[in-house]
Amino acid sequence: MTSSRLYLSPPHMSGRELGLIQEAFATNWIAPLGPHVDAFEQEFCTCTGARHAAAVSSGTAALHLALILSDVGPGDEVLVSTLTFSASVNPILYQGARPVFVDSEALSWNADPDLFVDALETRARRGRLPKAAVLVHLYGQSAQVAPIQAACERYGVHLIEDAAEALGATYQGRAPGTFGRFGIYSFNGNKIITTSGGGMLVSDDAGLIQHARKLATQARELAPHYEHTEVGYNYRMSNVLAAIGRGQLAVLEERVLARRRNFECYRQALADLPGIGFMPEAPWGRHTRWLTVITIDAERFGADRETVRLALEAENIEARPVWKPMHLQPVFAGYEHLGGAVAEQLFRDGLCLPSGSSLTAADLQRVVNVIVGQRR
Ligand SMILES: *Cc1c(COP(=O)(O)O)cnc(C)c1O
Repeated sequence: MTSSRLYLSPPHMSGRELGLIQEAFATNWIAPLGPHVDAFEQEFCTCTGARHAAAVSSGTAALHLALILSDVGPGDEVLVSTLTFSASVNPILYQGARPVFVDSEALSWNADPDLFVDALETRARRGRLPKAAVLVHLYGQSAQVAPIQAACERYGVHLIEDAAEALGATYQGRAPGTFGRFGIYSFNGNKIITTSGGGMLVSDDAGLIQHARKLATQARELAPHYEHTEVGYNYRMSNVLAAIGRGQLAVLEERVLARRRNFECYRQALADLPGIGFMPEAPWGRHTRWLTVITIDAERFGADRETVRLALEAENIEARPVWKPMHLQPVFAGYEHLGGAVAEQLFRDGLCLPSGSSLTAADLQRVVNVIVGQRR
């Protein structure tokens, strides 16, 4: 290999993080919690418009806490988008509950509101409502929140938003993740900003976030000795990682603009090729283009998605198929799914291209050249 590897979405430090980490070291605030954690939570609220936030060890941990604090338990049903990463679903099983997978709409690739509302209406008639719904905002774009939120409110179903991939996006001018009972975000290494690993749980309800903080720190009661009245978890974020998060959050807007520029560049270079499509930007808000995702109609383009992916790999370029729908995953076999054809087609034809905010024009050209070269 002559050229260096192009990754899908590598970490991109701003240069501010080391100074903030040094501050943590100078004051010996290394262990969980500390002033950077408090500041990161406050700055995150300012950035997203969330009222209250708890920084935790991962997005998955945040989702687990959200389900626990929505009373999801053994035998309960939880509606969840089928086109997503398995981390949207695993915590439902941690709680012994049953996921019900909901197909995507073509407009946003996120959960189809008609199917979602239909599922709630059907279950309300049967007198057996799901305990919660996990609405995922995929690849940097908000789902169509309003009809889903209204139906959840009508039937008393707790809405949890998985905004792990959508920090920086908007829905009607507001941040996805701030509409439901809870929202969760991820700072994993491949997300739009990163703490190497980490997550955030947000809610308008101060009491819920306070309770989440307690559960995340081994559920210690206020007592001089170790007193416990409920099962706890070790889910809090360390002060050192919160320092990285503060440095990253300060440049979030720049990161969004850089990723949108990547998308524009790909669009201009590829949109005229027969059979190539792009993930749409729905009319209700801003797509961050965390990842640029194309679709390849094999018939019209002359090569299928996997052929293109392998051609990119041969040039040391990482590209990945769109998420394999959860209703097709062996680990979730046997759970109910509503529709599924839209998500299945996106999985078959969809390809995520290198989308990092540090990509250069030459990097993007490398990717474009390989794709153009695959055309029949
Ligand atoms: C990354 C991701 C998560 C999990 O976040 P972690 O911080 O990696 O635990 C959850 N849901 C979606 C949609 C994600 O992309």
